[in-house]
Amino acid sequence: MSKSEQLNILYIRYREEFQGEEIVVGDGNHDSSLLLIGEAPGKDEVANSKPFVGMAGKNLAQFLEVLGLKRDEIYITNAIKHRLSKINPSTGRVSNRPATREEIEKNRNCLINEIDIIRPGIIVTLGNVPLRSVVGDHKASIGEVHGTLGKVSLKGIEYGLYPLYHPASIIYNASLKEIYVNDVENLKRIIKA
Ligand code: URA
Repeated sequence: MSKSEQLNILYIRYREEFQGEEIVVGDGNHDSSLLLIGEAPGKDEVANSKPFVGMAGKNLAQFLEVLGLKRDEIYITNAIKHRLSKINPSTGRVSNRPATREEIEKNRNCLINEIDIIRPGIIVTLGNVPLRSVVGDHKASIGEVHGTLGKVSLKGIEYGLYPLYHPASIIYNASLKEIYVNDVENLKRIIKA
């Protein structure tokens, strides 16, 4: 079965399991040696049925420019494939919210199977949620491992793991910007080596 067929089946099962949720599945080049994993889709992603569009898409474009890659050369997905939203009871406004530990666990099986289909050389996680999901450890912390190439073994296959801060965290914490830029430059060196 081709990777595309395997992914179709995986995503059909996911849609069955998470019926009623606003779902966005992975997108891009199935044969990429680099797999990028974000947290969860937001409003723009749901509207476009595509991960990392809108503001997040702009961040992604800058990231890819540094790496000298085009979006259609890599595969992009999220640790949680449905929108995590909450409604403000007084205004009725819908906003994004962080993933719970249970949601990370419930979504992990799909992510690990997705990785097993893509079989990238390097997995790049953005922020704590995909890092914790990939390593299967809720105590893993991006602050301790960002910008270093580690290894993770999943379903008997070893992958390179390169954790980065989530680009959105830079918007709220300016001091992280330099760290993030250095980490991306370092990833470029690793990819080109
Ligand atoms: N959009 C995504 O698809 N994932 C993120 O983590 C953030 C924005």
